[in-house]
Amino acid sequence: DTIIVLLNRDLRVHDHPALAEACARARTVVPLFVADPGIRGRHRDVFLAESLDDLRSSLRDLGGDLVVRRGDPVAEAVRLATELPAAAIWASADVSRYARRRERRLGEACREHRLDFRLFPGVTVVPPGDLTPAAGDHYRVFTPYWRAWTAEPHRRVLAAPRVVRLPAGLDPGEVPAARRRPAGGLRGGESVARRRLELWVKLCLADYAEGHDELAEDQTSMLSPYLRFGCVSPSEVVARASGHPGADAFVRQLCWRDFFHQVAMAFPELPRRDYRPRQVEWNDDPDAAQAWREGMTGVPIVDAGMRQLLAEGWMHNRARMIVGSFLTKRLRVHWRVGGEHFAELLLDGDVANNWGNWQWVAGTGNDTRPNRMLNPLRQAHRFDPGGEYVRRYVPELAGLPAGLVHQPWKASPKVAGYPAPLVALDNG
Ligand code: FAD
Repeated sequence: DTIIVLLNRDLRVHDHPALAEACARARTVVPLFVADPGIRGRHRDVFLAESLDDLRSSLRDLGGDLVVRRGDPVAEAVRLATELPAAAIWASADVSRYARRRERRLGEACREHRLDFRLFPGVTVVPPGDLTPAAGDHYRVFTPYWRAWTAEPHRRVLAAPRVVRLPAGLDPGEVPAARRRPAGGLRGGESVARRRLELWVKLCLADYAEGHDELAEDQTSMLSPYLRFGCVSPSEVVARASGHPGADAFVRQLCWRDFFHQVAMAFPELPRRDYRPRQVEWNDDPDAAQAWREGMTGVPIVDAGMRQLLAEGWMHNRARMIVGSFLTKRLRVHWRVGGEHFAELLLDGDVANNWGNWQWVAGTGNDTRPNRMLNPLRQAHRFDPGGEYVRRYVPELAGLPAGLVHQPWKASPKVAGYPAPLVALDNG
C-alpha cells in the first residue's frame, strides 16, 4: 500500500514523525508538497523554493523524490490518492486558523474517500494543547508554561528514514520558480539548517546569554526561518543544544515559540483581536505608518531595523522589540499595521510568533508589564553602542561618529536626505 505525506511546515527528512512512520509502515510513500497560492511572502518564496530543492535532493538520495503540485492542498492530495491509489494521507499538525481549517477539510475529504487520515507532531517541541494549567484551557503567562514545559519529558528525536520508496511512474512535478535571493538573505533548506545548527552550537551557544541582544553582532542562531518552514525540527534544536554551557537561555526562547503556538491554537483570533482587551486610543496615521515601514522615521535605530527587514526579510529580535514598541506606543499606530508588514516581509513570519509577539509588544498580549515602553535612544546606546548597526543599514548616517549616529538631529551641518524625528524623544 501507499501513504501520502502531505508536507507543509515540515520540509525535512530528519526527525519527521509522519514521514518516519509512513516509511516504516508502507511499501511506497509519496512526500507531497502542494504550492498553495493563498500563501505569499515577498522574501519567503525564494527561501521556500530553496528548501524544496534541498528536500528533493535529500529524498532522491534516499531513493524517493519530492512530488510537487500546485493548487488547493486538500483537493490535490485527494486527487493524487485516488489516482495512485493510496490508502492514507498523513500530515504534521499545525496551529493557525487557516491551517486548522485545511486539516479539517482534509479529514472530511479522507472520510468521504475512505482514506486513512492522521496528524502527527513535529511543528513544536510539545504539541499545543498537551500542557494545560490546573484551572483553564491554556497557559496565558510564560513562566508557569516554561516550568511545565521543562518538567515534561520530550519526544525522542527521530533519524531520517533509511529509504523512501516512491510508487513507479509518478510525475514529480516542478518546484515553483522564485526570484533571486537578496544580498545578505539566508539560503533555505534542511542541509543549510543542519550545518548552521552544528556550527552555532559549537561556536556561539556559550556566549548566547551574554551577547544575544547586541544588534551589530548577529550572535543569535538565525534558525527561525528554518524553524518556520520546518527545515529543522524544534525538538532536534533543543536536544542538540541541551547540556552545553549556555543552553538554558537559548532553550527558553524555543519554549517561547511553543508558548505562542499554544496561545494561537487556543485563541484563533490572535491576528485580529486584542488577546487582553485594553483601552488604547489608536492613531489612524497613514503617513506615520508609511514612514515607519520605509525606515524614514528620523530615529536611526528604528530606521535601521526597518530597512534591514526590507532588504533581507530579517530583523534582529532586539530591533523588532524597539520598532514594535515605537510604532504602537510612541506613534500609537495599531499593532495590526505592524504585524501585517512583518507578516509580508519576514522570512520567519508565522502566525503564532508574529501576532503573539506583536500583541506582547503592544501590551495587549502576554506581557506581564503591558505599559512597558522602550526608549529607542537608551536602547540604541545600550545595544548598538558604536552605532555599527545603524551605519550598516542607514547609509546616510555612515559618516557620523558614535556620539551623533543615534542623534543625527544634533549634527551640524544637518545630515542631507535624512528626516527629522517624527516624535520628540525624551532623555536625548
Ligand atoms: P534565537 O535568539 O537564536 O532563538 C532561537 C529560536 O527561539 C528562534 O529561532 C525562534 O524560533 C525562537 N524564539 C526566539 N525569540 C522568540 C520570541 N520572542 N517568540 C517566539 N519564539 C522566539 N519570530 C518568528 O519566528 N516569527 C515571527 O513572525 C516573529 N515575529 C516577531 C514580531 C515581533 C514584533 C517581535 C518582537 C518578535 C518576533 N519574533 C518572531 C520573535 C523573534 O524576534 C525571532 O524568533 C528571533 O529574532 C529569531 O532569531 P533567531 O533564530 O536568531 O533567534
